[in-house]
Amino acid sequence: EAAINRIAAGEVVERPASAVKELVENAIDAGARRITVEIADGGKTLIRVTDDGCGISGPDLPLALSRHATSKIDGSDLLNIHTFGFRGEALPSLGAVGRLTIQSRPQGEEGAEIAVAGGRMDPVKPAALNGGTVVTLRDLFYATPARLKFLRTDRAEGQAITDVIKRLAMAEPFIAFTLRDASGDGAGRDVFRVQAEQGDLFDALHGRLSEVLGREFAENALPIDATREGLHLTGFAALPTYSRGSPVAQYLFVNGRPVRDKLLIGALRGAYHDFLSRDRHPAAALFIDCDPTLVDVNVHPAKSEVRFRDPGLARGLIVSALRHALAEAGH
Ligand code: ADP
Ligand code: MG
Repeated sequence: EAAINRIAAGEVVERPASAVKELVENAIDAGARRITVEIADGGKTLIRVTDDGCGISGPDLPLALSRHATSKIDGSDLLNIHTFGFRGEALPSLGAVGRLTIQSRPQGEEGAEIAVAGGRMDPVKPAALNGGTVVTLRDLFYATPARLKFLRTDRAEGQAITDVIKRLAMAEPFIAFTLRDASGDGAGRDVFRVQAEQGDLFDALHGRLSEVLGREFAENALPIDATREGLHLTGFAALPTYSRGSPVAQYLFVNGRPVRDKLLIGALRGAYHDFLSRDRHPAAALFIDCDPTLVDVNVHPAKSEVRFRDPGLARGLIVSALRHALAEAGH
């Protein structure tokens, strides 16, 4: 089982940023309103994710660390990909490649903690904490020096973590996020921090995009809201005058998950084709929501590619909705 976990871990956890992604997705799934991520040395020596979500009961902690006991604790439908978690691999994988501690306290219960390292689990013991969950991952890949060697500099790994958190923050405007760098002996330094947005989803999204992508993006962004055959497209797309020399501001989400998908990026480019020269790239944050059966988001364990049942439909929706918005804005 430990060996299986290590193999699976390689798929799920390639670098500190992938560990952060899994842990923050879990916090989002747990209904957190505030998520704090602390890292040290680019996440190589420390990743700690603190949330105020529903928590895990003490007796359930060992279950959360066992493979494919998913959806382990609430017993919900395995195919329910409205929540991020449905593979049940992240925590066991992290416990196989680092020193992992989970402390948790559901409302009205006592706190408890469990530690696992090298796939070996300690017994559950009591812990003092506020409501929610604190997951601490130390010394990622300490037992697999070959993998450690493939990691980039602390700075580059830290940057990848910031990027992961920004993408998740865009998708969840009602959640407050903090990323703190606790490297060295200082008290730590906030690298990224956003308050929970208020108002309806569109206002909240606009506010959050202004925080994450900058006020200039938000001021040049056209609201997008279109539906076709069960696919809903929302978000903001920037005026062609706000285009970029590189595709740095292209953010795509499917059912709340950040994705990097060639089909969707191609559709985005297609929509701006008549307005941008080849060396200019459109900027947009677009969200497609649909019934989970219309899209497979589990093509790869890292989950950034998607496969629509009808790819032409997804592409057509993006191209027509964006062209319509651009035309309305006089382009
Ligand atoms: P998955 O997310 O695919 O279910 P994970 O290994 O990531 O698998 O997590 C295992 C289980 O542990 C989750 O299904 C959830 O029940 C529980 N869990 C993990 N993180 C948290 C958290 N931050 N708050 C509450 N429950 C959590
Ligand atoms: Mg998970």
